[in-house]
Amino acid sequence: MREFVQRTLTWLCIITLIGLGFWAWQGPTAGLVAVIVSLLAWLGFHLYHVALMLRWLAHPTAERVPDGFGSWHSVFLTLYRLMRTQSQSKRKLTNVLERFINAGEAMPDGVVVLDEHDRIEWLNPMAMEHLGLDRKQDVGNQILNLIRQPSFHAYMTNASFSQPLVLHMTQPRELVISVQLVPFDSTRKLLLSRDITSLDRVQTVHRDFVANVSHELRTPLTVVGGFLETLSDMEEVDQDTLRHFLPMMMEQSRRMQSLVEDLLTLSRLENSPKAVAAEKVNMQEMLDTLMVEAEGLSQGRHQIRLERDCTQWLWGSASELHSAFGNLVSNAVRYTPEGGTVTLSWKAEGDRLRFSVRDSGIGIPREHIPRLTERFYRVDRGRSRGNGGTGLGLAIVKHVIARHNARLDIQSEPEKGSTFSVIFQRERSADPDQQAA
Ligand code: ADP
Repeated sequence: MREFVQRTLTWLCIITLIGLGFWAWQGPTAGLVAVIVSLLAWLGFHLYHVALMLRWLAHPTAERVPDGFGSWHSVFLTLYRLMRTQSQSKRKLTNVLERFINAGEAMPDGVVVLDEHDRIEWLNPMAMEHLGLDRKQDVGNQILNLIRQPSFHAYMTNASFSQPLVLHMTQPRELVISVQLVPFDSTRKLLLSRDITSLDRVQTVHRDFVANVSHELRTPLTVVGGFLETLSDMEEVDQDTLRHFLPMMMEQSRRMQSLVEDLLTLSRLENSPKAVAAEKVNMQEMLDTLMVEAEGLSQGRHQIRLERDCTQWLWGSASELHSAFGNLVSNAVRYTPEGGTVTLSWKAEGDRLRFSVRDSGIGIPREHIPRLTERFYRVDRGRSRGNGGTGLGLAIVKHVIARHNARLDIQSEPEKGSTFSVIFQRERSADPDQQAA
């Protein structure tokens, strides 16, 4: 500013000196004309730079700042520097904003920014997926018009958002979502959504499991308790009564024992690390043992056969495999009426190995097959309990074969019979003479 005043004063002095010079040389008129001409030239000089400035202001970028003379040179230089600093900070701000938006877009949780009237300002792809919203159509619309569940309305109109709300969405697909509002900026709100479908499923499975175990234990406990009460009410207990009650009580206690044993096996399988490869399992011995067990269970009521077309052994855990194969054999015997056939087979199929148990029993309707390995899932509850089933056998089989990277195949037809096969990959195949790694 001071420089500008100094320059202006200098020019005024120069113009005055020119006027005085002409006055002294040609008289007062010439002096006046010289001053007017100099002032006009000075004015023209400034008007020219103002025009440059106006032209630049139409598209004000740092690259197009004009060049000028005298004090205008300083003005344009200052403008140039100002524009450079401004465009640098604008670029920085744009980068920060871009990074923020990219981070928001990549977030695994849904984020919706709502304005003071709960209209959508911005949302990320996860929010679209969770809440069934569309960025093109829904930005600018009120969230309450788009999510119409009564619990969400109640939550939005509630003043306290400290707890999340669980929503069961059906569109665009079945999801369980936890949503939470976070007010910010005094008027705006963030709506955060998280997919808790698997967590909800685990909780439901856990709840069902506890309910099932309690139910399974309550029945035999009630029966035993009832017998004991009857016996204690009797003044004298004769041998006949004891002979009548004791086997029934023992049967119920055996049922509880099998259930607890199966529960412990399941828990062991679930809690131990998945590393069953180091042991070489002698499949000849295993099949012989299974045959003896099948005959023991059948008590001569079935024909038990063995088809052994393979001499290979298996890398795995002998105890776990015995438990899985034993469950399949026990099921085949238990679900095959007297006179039926149960066939155990051990075969090589290409580079796979297949252990199967085929029976000519009651079979399973097709719709039940996908759910058989769920804990406590039974096709016929009464029949399973009646033959000593706990409802956990196939759940144990599923765990064991998963730990051996194998696959369970179930083929069945009602009234004709079932075939349960465990198919092992080539890596599990062990030569009987091969040494452990
Ligand atoms: P359970 O102790 O009840 O036998 P599992 O888990 O071993 O429990 O089997 C689940 C259900 O699958 C059984 O209740 C039964 O309905 C059906 N199932 C299993 N194996 C057979 C089979 N070989 N033939 C017919 N049904 C079977």
